[in-house]
Order: sequence, then C-alpha cells, then structure tokens
Amino acid sequence: MDNFHRLIEINSHKEQQYKYQLFNWRSELYDANDNTYFLLAKFALLNKLKIEQVNEFFNQYFSIDIFNLNLSEHRSLKYLFSIFSNQAYIQNNLITKNSGDLNILGIPLIQDYYVNTRHQEKIIRYCPECIKSYKLPEHASLKYLDRCLFHNVKFEIFSCNHRVIRLKERSVKCHINFIRIFCPDFPTPQTKKHNVPSQFSTVLNDLDKWNFSLKEICDKKLGKHLHTFKNMDCAIPEQCAHFVLVKELSLPESLREFTIPTNAIRKINSLSISNNSGFSFFEKFTYFQFSALPVVYSSFCYLHRKNEASFIQSLLSFFDELKLELINKNEKFWYLHENDGIWTSSDSKSLYCGALIHDLLIDWLTELWLPPLYTSTRSRRFQYFNNFHLMNEDLIKSTMFTPVKSNISENKIDTLFSFNRVNFQEFSIPKFSSEQMLALDSMCDELVKSYIHDARVWLNRIECGEKPDHFPPKSRALLSLQKVQDQYRLFNVQID
Ligand SMILES: [Zn+2]
Ligand SMILES: [Zn+2]
Repeated sequence: MDNFHRLIEINSHKEQQYKYQLFNWRSELYDANDNTYFLLAKFALLNKLKIEQVNEFFNQYFSIDIFNLNLSEHRSLKYLFSIFSNQAYIQNNLITKNSGDLNILGIPLIQDYYVNTRHQEKIIRYCPECIKSYKLPEHASLKYLDRCLFHNVKFEIFSCNHRVIRLKERSVKCHINFIRIFCPDFPTPQTKKHNVPSQFSTVLNDLDKWNFSLKEICDKKLGKHLHTFKNMDCAIPEQCAHFVLVKELSLPESLREFTIPTNAIRKINSLSISNNSGFSFFEKFTYFQFSALPVVYSSFCYLHRKNEASFIQSLLSFFDELKLELINKNEKFWYLHENDGIWTSSDSKSLYCGALIHDLLIDWLTELWLPPLYTSTRSRRFQYFNNFHLMNEDLIKSTMFTPVKSNISENKIDTLFSFNRVNFQEFSIPKFSSEQMLALDSMCDELVKSYIHDARVWLNRIECGEKPDHFPPKSRALLSLQKVQDQYRLFNVQID
C-alpha cells in the first residue's frame, strides 16, 4: 500500500480535496491493446497529476522510468494497469517481440514495440472510432497498417507542435495534449455506448503471430542484404520497406484490407544472379567495391566484349534513339546551364543555351556505365579519371581485378591529366570466368534497364510539356543484391 500512500502525498500538496483519496482509475479506461503512453496520459489527466509526478509515482515504487520505457517496462505498466482495472493481463506479441532489427532490402526497419510506440515524430496516428471510447490501439503506430483492425476505418493523424516540450517528456505529454483536444470531456464517463473494440479480434491475433515471426520470414524470403545498387528517389525508404513488407512477406490474408495500399509498387522482381559458389567473393566485398563494380566492369565490357554484353547494347541503342530524336525534332528544346542550374527553352539549335537534355542524358549514362568517350568537357573528364582510378584500386584490393601494369605505373595518372585530349585507358581487368561474366551481365542488364527507364520517364514528362526542374532523372526503383540461402539475387522494386 506504500505506493498508494505516496500518491496521496503527491496529491495533497496540490489540492486538499484529494487528501483521502488513493488514486483514480476506472476499469473501462483500460484496454489491453492501448498504447502504453496513452494509458499513462489518461492516468495523468484523471488524477490531475503533472507528468513529473506520474513519473515519480511509477519510478519510486515500481522502478519504472516512464520517460524511457524499455520493453519489459512497457509490459509491467500494462500489467499494473490491468491490476488497477481488475482485469486479467493479456500478454501480446506486439509488445514482447524482441527479435532484433529487421532489414528489408537494406532498409533498416525496427519492429520493437518500445521504439515504435515512442513518440518521436510530430504526429500521433489514431482511430477516429476508438478515440470516442478513449482508446488508442497500439497497432496504430505500425505504419504499414492503414486502418484500425477493430473498426476497419482509416487511421487519422494528429499533428502536434511539441517544440516547447522537452524531448524525454514528449511521449506522454503529446498524448496528454492529444486527449485534451480530441476528448474535451475526458475524464467524464461516457454515457453514449460506442462501438467498443472486441479484445480478441482474430485479425489482431493474426497480426500478432505474423509480426512475431517477421524476422524469420524476412530472412527466408529476402535473405541477407549485400549491397544497394540503386536507391529509390521517389519514395521515402521506410515507406518502400513497408510496401515490400506487405507485398512480399507472407502477410496473412485477413490483414490485407487493413494495410497501406501497395498499388504504388508496379512490381517486385527477383533475378537470380548465381546459385553457385562462384560469387563467394561478394561476402568480403566492401561498400566501395560494390559501388565500383558496375562502372569498372561495364567499362571493361565496352572495350572488350561490346557485342556479347547485352547491357552495353541496350545503352548504345538508347543513345542512338536519343540522337535520332534530336535529328527529327523541329520544335523547341530544353537546355540546362549546369553551373547555375537554369533551364532554358529554345528552338534554335545553334544558340548556346547550355546543354541539351538529350546530351545531358547521354553524358550522365556514360559516366555511370562507359569509359568517357563521349564526354567533351575537360573538367568532367579529369574528375572521371580520378574517380575511375580510385575505383580500380579498390577492386584490385578485392583480388578479383588485376592491375594493367603499364597504365597504373608511377605518375602515369598525373601525366594523363596534364593533357587536354587524353584517351581513356584501363587500369585493371577482371579475373572472372565466362560463367561469372554472364551472371554479372544479367545483373548489369537489370541495372541499366532501370536507369534507362528512369531516363525515359523523365524525358516523356518533358515531352508532354512539363518544365524540367531537376537533373539527373529521379530513380524510380530500388535495386538490392541479396544472398538468399545459397543464391545471389537482385531484387528490383519499382514504383510508378
Ligand atoms: Zn478503431
Ligand atoms: Zn509531439
């Protein structure tokens, strides 16, 4: 009973009327599915306690720091509130889950309850029906869900201005503000009967089970992340991870209607690169070696196996297509002054207005995929050589590339740079077998296709009258190399 006496003390300093009272709580205010911070906010408002006093109460007598709740403290709090409410404590897996961080194609996704429910953003997601009975379901904080599992209505968003609230106090204080605004009558008992959520919703049970085994499902289906070759510019990473989560990771049928709409994703491809041990060197590859691989490998292919490598062919025919378009075009063109970022539309081909958009695209793709045979500006060429040299050195370290002695020898680079017109030279060549090359080709095919698609979308929009406002084209796909069991797979997530 010590705890209760303590609360009397806290209260009695403030208002005499609470002198003989323990603390206020009503069993209908407890819901096993309530967000823990929301329960604390209700407790604070009901007892007219300041947030510091609530913390003092829980801290002193239950050793729970409400400003910094960990997983077991969340559980303990729920347990305490269930006792206050004379109700059985139901442990759910949304809280107990602690299976480590999830990684969805290189995008870290933290599924732990104590992180998810912590109020870190300036919003609180809530169900407009649940809040009528003073409830905030904890699954409202799972952003891959779009609708309340109890009411099947879309979650709404409360935006708070919590600049004046100290960081550690936000989780509870913002929920207090939220209740003040959305439940102005709180804590008056409700006379009207609302559509109260049923505690043992089967959908919730399904979510609970799925969420619990998510890490396992993810490991099995997506495997281990090795490298992201191309990131999506058009969607925030977390959203992209949620799309994959909902679309690829065995989401139970019963949950489908409650999740975020995934029609923004056009498709998710998974291309098998290799299922033999021929790519075990990938395991030791560094981030920089992975980034260097497509550039250096494709430059090698351009110089030595142009006709075999279909991705080189795709690039070259796209260049031809761009050039042909230019020849046949009589209307206005868009030009970019790369130094000041100004776009100009002009119908005079001879007028110097900056770089023509078609040339921009060719230059951009060349720098990504080919030796700079098309690039004419000296500064760019210099920069390219510098980067290219570093990339080669990195790949030589992986032992998968052999240095080309004559070119990499002393000060050769410096002399290369001192001339205006220099020819591209190789610094290293790969030691891959023909089988490995075919596998790498298929990977590059997918990458190049994706870059060309980005370029086409960008160009089409401009052709349709949109004024260009950025360059290079935004990436509309995520391409991630994963090791799934014994296979190396390239996942391609495309949006529209
Ligand atoms: Zn609801
Ligand atoms: Zn806030």
